[in-house]
Amino acid sequence: MGILVIGSVAFDSVETPFGKVDDVLGGSATYFSTSASFFTDVRLVAVVGEDFPEEPLDFLRSRKVDLTGLKRSPGKTFRWKGKYGFDLNEAQTLDTQLNVFEQFHPELPAGYEDAEYLFLANIDPELQMEVLQQVRRPRLIACDTMNFWIEGKREALIKTLKRVDTLVINEGETRQLADEPNLVRAARKVLAMGPKTLVVKRGEYGVLMFTEHSIFSAPAYPLESVFDPTGAGDTFAGGFMGYLAATRSDDEATIRRAIVFGSVMASFTVEDFSLDRLRRLQYSEIEERFRRVKLLTDFEGLS
Ligand code: AMP
Repeated sequence: MGILVIGSVAFDSVETPFGKVDDVLGGSATYFSTSASFFTDVRLVAVVGEDFPEEPLDFLRSRKVDLTGLKRSPGKTFRWKGKYGFDLNEAQTLDTQLNVFEQFHPELPAGYEDAEYLFLANIDPELQMEVLQQVRRPRLIACDTMNFWIEGKREALIKTLKRVDTLVINEGETRQLADEPNLVRAARKVLAMGPKTLVVKRGEYGVLMFTEHSIFSAPAYPLESVFDPTGAGDTFAGGFMGYLAATRSDDEATIRRAIVFGSVMASFTVEDFSLDRLRRLQYSEIEERFRRVKLLTDFEGLS
């Protein structure tokens, strides 16, 4: 059955110490669905404006992403502008233009309400809630958000979180959401808001997963050249959810493997601007990197 995702489809303008691009393909749902499509079927719900070209849509269709739920509305496509310094772990948002998302209310196409795996990618928590109200009983509801919504729509976000099984956010967002500087205590506070599992993305330092009873740590794949971190989080979530949906399993070992697949997917995205690296990616490369990450932390059983 695959995954249903709602999130942004965007034009991004990004500056890193290594280069600059304007109005390239981006958006949380775009990165997520491309990444997840390496593992399972994806159905995307979002909106673009009249200015959005066909080529990226053809690309998503070529990855077998179902675009029945992608609406084209009068007006301009969502735009995000960001900048990274030498510390590539944290983006500085320079500009966010919601544009067509300001008037958007998601309406799920027929059949989408039976979604088993739902990912509420980074977008207005009120829109995330509108999708939650239209689905029947997903096996797994996961969610992402960012400082923009934690600051601007905190109440709506807290409501959404009550209905979420797994929250996937970065380290700074975890501290900000919990209003607590210590990450472990912050994680406990976030778990008390509703999610049973919290996945904390820590850029080049990897991922920490918290549940009530356990903590799991996965490293990021060590890369010699990180070009542009934009989309790493969404790509992570796509690999993570994609693997869970493909295996249809939710035991701890599968969840841990899903986290490593997510990290592997993110490691490709950051090697180029926009979705350029994902566009060239082969499944065999994913498997190869997964094997290398496994060896990276193996300190027992070597002879
Ligand atoms: P990340 O994976 O966290 O690097 O997410 C990057 C993507 O998030 C970019 O492609 C942006 O278009 C998108 N984005 C940035 N700000 C927002 C926002 N406020 N709501 C939805 N999507 C956003």
